This record gives sequence, structure tokens and C-alpha cells, in this order.
Amino acid sequence: METILNYIDGKWTNALSGDYFNVINPATGEVVAKAAKGGRDDAKMAIAAAKREFYNNPNGWRRFSAVKRSEILLKIADELEKQRDSFALIETIDNGKPLREALGDVDDAVSYIRYYAGAARMPSGVSYDVNDGFGQMQSFTIKEPVGVCALITPWNYPLLMGVQKIAPALAAGNTIVFKSSSETPMSTAKFFEILSKSEIPDGTVNLVMGSGSTVGNELSENEYVDMVSFTGSTEVGQSIYRASAGNIKKIGLELGGKSPNVIFADADLDGAVEWAMVGVFFNQGEVCSAGSRIIVEKSIKDKFVDKLKQRAENMTIGNGVENPDMGPLISENHLNKVLDFVEKAKNEGANIVCGGYRYTEGECAKGYFMKPTIIDNVTRDNTAVKNEIFGPVVTIQTFETEKEAVDMANDTEFGLAGAVFTSDGARAFRVVKEIRAGVMWINCYNPAFVEAPWGGYKKSGTGRELSFEGLEEYTETKQITMNLNPGKLGWYK
Ligand code: NAD
Repeated sequence: METILNYIDGKWTNALSGDYFNVINPATGEVVAKAAKGGRDDAKMAIAAAKREFYNNPNGWRRFSAVKRSEILLKIADELEKQRDSFALIETIDNGKPLREALGDVDDAVSYIRYYAGAARMPSGVSYDVNDGFGQMQSFTIKEPVGVCALITPWNYPLLMGVQKIAPALAAGNTIVFKSSSETPMSTAKFFEILSKSEIPDGTVNLVMGSGSTVGNELSENEYVDMVSFTGSTEVGQSIYRASAGNIKKIGLELGGKSPNVIFADADLDGAVEWAMVGVFFNQGEVCSAGSRIIVEKSIKDKFVDKLKQRAENMTIGNGVENPDMGPLISENHLNKVLDFVEKAKNEGANIVCGGYRYTEGECAKGYFMKPTIIDNVTRDNTAVKNEIFGPVVTIQTFETEKEAVDMANDTEFGLAGAVFTSDGARAFRVVKEIRAGVMWINCYNPAFVEAPWGGYKKSGTGRELSFEGLEEYTETKQITMNLNPGKLGWYK
């Protein structure tokens, strides 16, 4: 069995406590690795190394030219690409997702690193003509790295969410302390092996595994951490926001969602069904932007639900390595939480169109599998409509007017994403403008691109990832003013 260690100040290290935690394959329930269980003191050591490198090393990472940083990132991307198959296999064993989806994650991760390697060399900053009574002056801005960045990730896209933070943070010249989810530490630890063999100076990139309440808390509270970038649940995001207040850290929060998928009667019905499937059953429904609230025009509801049900019931379920349509949920605990939501929805009067139970056929008996679930006959305040379930569960609501559809879509504390399906272009644009969310799709669901920004409104977070905006999150803006006639003062004198 593999043992995974922390990576602190250029060395692979056991936790100071000597403790480990088990890593479980959710398809089989088997322990597949043990990982060093860091604590607050391990986190402090990593922060100290990152701080020293950022502030005290005259030859440190932030002093490397952008060209050099870019070249190193490109080599890291090449190495990840070379190991594509083994990364994908590890991701599937650790997270459960079908292998072809894990391969897609590795491809995206490679592409993200290459994007930020290029972005590191892009021009940035603005100049301002500020002549006034002080004399002839010119102001301009430069972008500088923030400093020590703590990066904390969830379990649903372990490698991709990690790279989504690590690549722009490094491209901008920061030093980092990374904490992966204890459910899925394997792929990011393997990625740190690539980082450890690169030309990045020791102490610049650090990995500390361990629980949120110890390592995560230390990273959010520690006065030497300059920025926290967190992806995970809204509840934990709120506690990180509070814990970061001590030294007013810069903060990025990519949190939960309960995204509406609005389908008008004039939409291409078969297309809308296919995209709705992707919207809610991709990655076992364990997707922050999942289209988990289908809001469909009343006149086509029965036809739409019949088609969706047929597709859902035909999905293959199994061990991700066999490439089924859907793999297991991340853990028994999480599966039970999802099933609990379904039970509560039922008790509140909802109708289960299909699924709603644990799937235990054959080999699946050992893992944490669930049948894709469609829930009908729900009120706006039904448990299943209000809460992020984070599993293969979708609710169906109906509307009769455009205004009603928009009101329903906005009736949520979240604002991450959403979609509208219609053949009326003007209506599509009106509706996406009215929905309060950071990412909207028209006639498609869920595609995300490194070129375009990603992030939420309301309780879905603050800040943006991906795109050039995602790079700028890892920078501070410095405004500099130059007197063009040194020694002279204007009216002031
Ligand atoms: P989680 O909030 O339970 O955990 C996320 C990470 O935070 C883990 O590494 C965990 O160990 C750590 N953590 C836990 N308590 C902490 C604390 N007090 N201080 C600091 N760190 C702490 O989330 P999860 O169950 O791993 O992931 C699912 C959630 O992530 C869902 O809500 C989903 O919507 C969200 N998510 C959002 C996006 C997005 O882009 N908005 C993307 C993926 C996942």
C-alpha cells in the first residue's frame, strides 16, 4: 500500500505527530493508501518556509523573470501530460469518477498550466495622465504577487481544482501552502512530485495534508498567510472568511451552488434532455455548478420528464475504471447524506420519478453507489429544492411565464451558475441577464474553459478563477506616481 507524505520546504516529511489517515477507494471500500496526517504545527512549518522564500530569499521565485517562471510551468505541464494515464487512474481510484472523465480532468489540468504559463508573460498594469497643481506627473500601476498563498481544495475534482489554483498562484510569483481534501489526497500529492523535481526553489511550494479543523484552520488564521483561496462548501467558506479577518487576508471563495436549468417549450427538446443529463449526472452530480433544479415550461413538462427518466434509468453504474456512465459517490457518509435529502423530500410531499436508493447489484455492493434520481412534485421550499445535495439528484419545477421562470431561478441563496434552453435568442439573453449568477449557459450546460472566468454571486463565493481575471486574483495592484520634473513643485509651493 502506498504511503503519501507531506512536502515541506523541499522535503517529503511525515507528520510531526507521526499519524496517518486512510485513503479509501469509494468503488470498493478498500483502503488504497495512507497519508501523513498533518496538524497545526506542520502547517506552521510550511508557512514559515513559504514566508522565508517570499520575503527573504533574494533569488526566490518571485525574483525569477516572468519568462523563466513561464518556461518552468511549461515543463511541468509536459511532465503531467506524459503521465496522463497514471494520473487519471489514481484520480478514478481515489475519487470514483469514470476513467474517461478523469482523463478529461488531466487534459484540462495540462491546458490550465499552459494557459497560465502564457498569461505570466502578458502585459499588465495601466498608466494614467495625472497632471494637476502638483506639476507634471504620470501615474501607473504594476501587478505584484500577493505573498504566501494558502490553497484549500475539495474532493470532487482533486487534481483540477488544485491546478486551477497552483498554476495562476505560481505564474504570478507567489509562494504556496496547499491543503488537499482528506478524501482525495492522491493526485495532488503525485503532482507535487512533479513540482519537487522542477526548478522551483525549495520552500516555494508546500503540501500539508490533514483535517480542515487543524491544518485548514491554521492556514486561514495564521498572520503570515497573505491570501487564502478556497474551494468547497459555503459553510466552511464562511468560517474561513471569518478566520481570515485577523490580518485582513486577500480571499478567494468558490463555494456551493443550487443552479437552475430553465427550459422553455420552444427549446430543442432532445438537446435539452441531453444537456440536462450532463448538468446533473456528470461526475455523479458532485459538481458545484450542477443543474440540480430543472425549471421547465408546464406545457412540455410531461414529455421532458419522460425522456429524462428514460435516459436516467438506462445509465450504467459501476467501478469508474470500467468506464460506466456513473461511478460511486465519494464516501458512505456522503451517500447517506444524499439519501437523507431524498427521504426528507419525500416526507415533504415530493414524488420520486426514478432512483432515490443505494445501488448494490453485484460488485457495487461493496461501494457507495446510487441510482440517478429525479424528484417531481416539489414546492419551492422543499428540502431538495433549497439545499445543495451534491449527488445525482435533480428536482423538477414548472412555470408558465418568463417572469415566473426567472423568479423561481433566483429563489435561492446561491448564485454560481445556471442555464436557459430556448430557440428565441432575445429571450435567452433577457433571462440570463436577470438570473443572479456568475456563470450562465445558453442551450448547453456545464462546459467550463480556462479562457473564461468562473465564480459565484451571493453565497456561492467571491472572486474569480480561470482566465486572466483568475491570474489577477493572485496579485496586488501597486500604483506608482512619477514627477516628470524632479525638484519642481507646482502651486503647492
Ligand atoms: P468542504 O467545504 O467540506 O471541504 C473543502 C476543503 O476545506 C477540504 O480540504 C476540507 O478539509 C477543508 N476544510 C474543512 N473545514 C475547514 C476549516 N474549518 N478551515 C479550513 N479548511 C477546512 O467541501 P467538500 O465536501 O470537500 O466539497 C464539496 C463542496 O465544494 C460543495 O459545496 C461544492 O459546491 C463546492 N465546490 C465549489 C466549486 C466552485 O467552483 N464554486 C467547485 C468544486 C466544489
